[in-house]
Amino acid sequence: MQIRTVAVLGAGTMGHGIAQVAAQAGFDVTLYDVQRSLAEAAIERIDANLAGGVDRGKLTAEQRRAALARLRASSALEEAVDAADLVIEAVPEKLELKRQLFARVETLVPPACVLATNTSSLSIAEIAAALRAPERFLGMHFFNPVHLMRLLELVIHEGTAESALAVARSVGAAMGKTTIVVRDSPGFATSRLGVALGLEAMRMLEEGVASAQDIDTAMELGYRHPMGPLKLSDLVGLDVRLQIAEYLHRKLGRDLFEPPPILRRLVAEGRLGKKSGRGFYDWPED
Ligand code: NAD
Repeated sequence: MQIRTVAVLGAGTMGHGIAQVAAQAGFDVTLYDVQRSLAEAAIERIDANLAGGVDRGKLTAEQRRAALARLRASSALEEAVDAADLVIEAVPEKLELKRQLFARVETLVPPACVLATNTSSLSIAEIAAALRAPERFLGMHFFNPVHLMRLLELVIHEGTAESALAVARSVGAAMGKTTIVVRDSPGFATSRLGVALGLEAMRMLEEGVASAQDIDTAMELGYRHPMGPLKLSDLVGLDVRLQIAEYLHRKLGRDLFEPPPILRRLVAEGRLGKKSGRGFYDWPED
């Protein structure tokens, strides 16, 4: 199947990044959010990213212009998806929200359109169960920041069609991503391991084992992680991390995934990490 048009639903941290790499890969992209101004602001953010790429010599001014010309903002779902060959959803991590959105999207897209979610941890099968044609559905799990992170985790449920997986693979390759295929299970491969490490680092900070910086440096220099687990949690968003930890704790029933009090406290105080300016670290505005 020839993929030309990609619709991205949700223009936040992940949605704008996915839209950017899709446009750079040559697809026509519609970026949809509940308010047009949010989708438009995301396209401005993409343009700023692309301009930075031009400044650093990663792409030409012509490539920036061409990518931008392939992007359009929308707040009308029907218009956003009616010509889509592939829909990638990146709305907040709430099962019912995603199920309801896909049930509606399925009635609006062409019959061959592949539907994908960027969920970090929710069950692909449970989202697919909201569809009349679950075989067209899978997870396409991108990483933040999308334009820099090379991994794309493809998550399949029992009924995912080979053809849908093939579409996701080829789109991932066009975006310059390395794909891995993971069976639908809580936290997939990446979140399950990454969240376990992050939560343990938070417990160590709480116990006064070491400072946030020293815990991060332990992993960066001792284990060659490009970024320590606390800094990474700030980057992902502590509210997002908390939701995923609660979900994994419920599903896997292991103490390892119980959110530590420090995480709950920071989220309650509105210290959500980089996006709010403070988390485990202070983050000056870019
Ligand atoms: P975000 O809060 O930054 O963005 C979500 C966007 O969705 C917002 O712009 C919001 O206005 C919009 N939205 C809300 N309801 C909507 C609806 N009904 N229709 C369309 N848009 C709607 O969230 P995010 O961090 O980009 O996360 C999005 C998804 O990606 C989640 O499922 C999350 O688990 C997953 N994810 C996040 C990361 C990360 O590092 N942040 C990494 C991988 C996957």
